[in-house]
Amino acid sequence: MDLGYSGRTAVVTGGTSGIGLATARLLLAEGARVAICGRDAGRLERARDTLGGGDQLFAHRCDVLRREEVEAFAAAVAEWGGGALDLLVNNAGQGRVSTFAETTDAAWYEELELKFFSQVLPLRAFKPLLDRAAAPAIVGVNSLLAVQPEAHMVCTSAARAGVQSLLKSLATEFAPHIRVNSILLGLVDSGQWQRRFEARPDQAQSRDSWFGDLARKKGIPLGRLGDPEEPARAILFLGSPAASYVTGASLEVSGGVSRHI
Ligand code: NDP
Repeated sequence: MDLGYSGRTAVVTGGTSGIGLATARLLLAEGARVAICGRDAGRLERARDTLGGGDQLFAHRCDVLRREEVEAFAAAVAEWGGGALDLLVNNAGQGRVSTFAETTDAAWYEELELKFFSQVLPLRAFKPLLDRAAAPAIVGVNSLLAVQPEAHMVCTSAARAGVQSLLKSLATEFAPHIRVNSILLGLVDSGQWQRRFEARPDQAQSRDSWFGDLARKKGIPLGRLGDPEEPARAILFLGSPAASYVTGASLEVSGGVSRHI
């Protein structure tokens, strides 16, 4: 199936690692022009080297929680990309592991800001560019925690549910011109899990053994964590003209770990 990305322009926030990096790589391979951002200049440089991409790739340092930086990123993309944007992938972020007892008010504010404003600020800044494209789309990267909360990730779960509600509303407000969809992730072997692996209590435990134990403990039917390219393929589908009648939808990419119907 031709996903129709040739000649189209895409923005992937948090495109320097894990799922965002894999999404940028697949978009480039499909012939899209891709702009990525991240906070860390070194990671951005390494991503640029890894991806190659030449003129097809634009890498810009930007914290998606800082309005001026997001606006500057959008202005730079407008200049680089010719003023229209076909796809916005709001992916930047990370999870927070804490129970209600462990979560301070400050941590709640921080988590709610991260989850909501990593969507809201890029949405505002890139909306005029999306409006100028012929068949634009937005894909929000979200978690299964939005619909299946976990007590040990209480504020992340609550914020994820709110983000899902936001995206659903936007699918109506932005219709019929812009499609808005999301993916709901289970556990994907990316930067976040690598950092948790590196902080494991038993430093002698191998990577395979630690990730194998994790998949068993979480009861993932497919028996393993996802590879970043697996959610990236779902993002590409939802963002493409191949999904032209899909909006307001969420696609679960979790190895079957959800328990609801
Ligand atoms: P990674 O840590 O591998 O990648 C996160 C990316 O986001 C990096 O490029 C990072 O770069 C960037 N980023 C983080 N915060 C900001 C910010 N404020 N502004 C700009 N860029 C930022 O994680 P994943 O690939 O796993 O995560 C991608 C998304 O998927 C995240 O939103 C995450 O919460 C979500 N998710 C992941 C799951 C998983 O199991 N992996 C499960 C559920 C959801 P830098 O640090 O340089 O800014």
